[in-house]
Amino acid sequence: MDLVPRLKNEAIHEWFDRLPGSVGIGNVRYTTSGKCDDASIIDGTQPVAACSGRIKLALSFNGNIVNTLPLKKEMGENFSDFYFNCDSDVVCHKLLLGLKQGKNLESAVRSVMESLDGAFSVTGLTGDGDFFAFKDPHGIKPLCAGHDPAGATYAFCSETVGLDMNSFIRDFELNPGELVTASKDGFKRIQIIQNPRPAFCAFEYAYFARPDSRFDGKYVYEIREDFGRNIVKEFPEIVRDSDIIMSVPETGDDPAMGVHEESGLRWERASRRHRYVTERAFILLNTERFSTIDKKINILGSKVDGKRVIVTEDSVVRGDTTKVIIDKLRRAGAKKVYVFVTFPRIIGPCFYGIDMSTYGQLIGSKHNVQEIAKIIGADGVCYQSIEALVNATGQKENELCMACITGKYPTPCAQKMADAMKKRFLEGYEEKSRIYETEEVQP
Ligand code: SF4
Repeated sequence: MDLVPRLKNEAIHEWFDRLPGSVGIGNVRYTTSGKCDDASIIDGTQPVAACSGRIKLALSFNGNIVNTLPLKKEMGENFSDFYFNCDSDVVCHKLLLGLKQGKNLESAVRSVMESLDGAFSVTGLTGDGDFFAFKDPHGIKPLCAGHDPAGATYAFCSETVGLDMNSFIRDFELNPGELVTASKDGFKRIQIIQNPRPAFCAFEYAYFARPDSRFDGKYVYEIREDFGRNIVKEFPEIVRDSDIIMSVPETGDDPAMGVHEESGLRWERASRRHRYVTERAFILLNTERFSTIDKKINILGSKVDGKRVIVTEDSVVRGDTTKVIIDKLRRAGAKKVYVFVTFPRIIGPCFYGIDMSTYGQLIGSKHNVQEIAKIIGADGVCYQSIEALVNATGQKENELCMACITGKYPTPCAQKMADAMKKRFLEGYEEKSRIYETEEVQP
């Protein structure tokens, strides 16, 4: 789990011996479902496997299931040995249930797509060696397919960068609601559900995806540069009141280039990231987060002393990462600090696999822009507008999920739970767990 380890040659051969066969799936993502203690997180590592009689299934997915609680009950009623750790067990068993009932893969996948609310980009294997992938009907998370130059190997990958790094050729991005099987004869594409409302995660463009991945033929880093240009156009008066730009590495780097090109201001590489501190501050517990940010980012004092600085950031979720950086800049002598944020103000939780799953943890759910600036210690916070973000992605507004910045969720269960919890939250209710795992707001 987490970063893919560098394997030595001998280790790779050892794994080859332990895993005979010609198909395989893997996953290094931590789950956003189930218990949060270390043991449960390790237990929830994917892929998951399950069997019923002679039917065997292994499955790996990116995303998050919203209606896990009722599905958990259903799976418990259908499988006497059902063990629930997190949502991936539910996805796997729901598919297994269809196969157990005699459905072929297509109709078993249809039944998964029709009963699961949430985001799921899935890869899987059956005991008979079928290798397949499918995406939820909204296509919230990415998943692409490709092959090696010899045409001997076929692959699915969350992002194109995984194909590039293995010298594979990208063939296509899976459509929302599509099932693709891969065999020695190549890919077979079957549109299981035609959904008129795709909803690709807009946060992938600003934060989650690697900058060297491509969506619709465009590198993510190019889109991030456009984000930077957009903020310059939207806040000219702030640009006039600034001397230099710097970024919060690394997701702030590409927007900083855009800000630099559009404004003509010098981009000082005044923040440096520790090469060996690799934890993502975003996913750590509160106490760990502060010290990790402190260790991870160093400020080059002489570059900012006496300067009015624009800092480019991908997003402000809790606000504490940015607060630490601003504090360091002040201590280094920065005269003014403005923050340019490429992802618009996050006002609501994500139900689809980004671990910001309560209103309480989001600074933007209870504070306006001026208040946020005050809390994090900035002279100004300038968010890119939603309209500018959409234009830069090349998508249409109704093709993206922007639920966490608009409050409009593409799936019905998520919308109901978000609305129910928002009402309680505004009345002073204190959230104790992820919203989709809170009994009181289950539809
Ligand atoms: S709610 Fe936000 S982070 Fe979650 S999938 Fe939608 S756009 Fe992405």
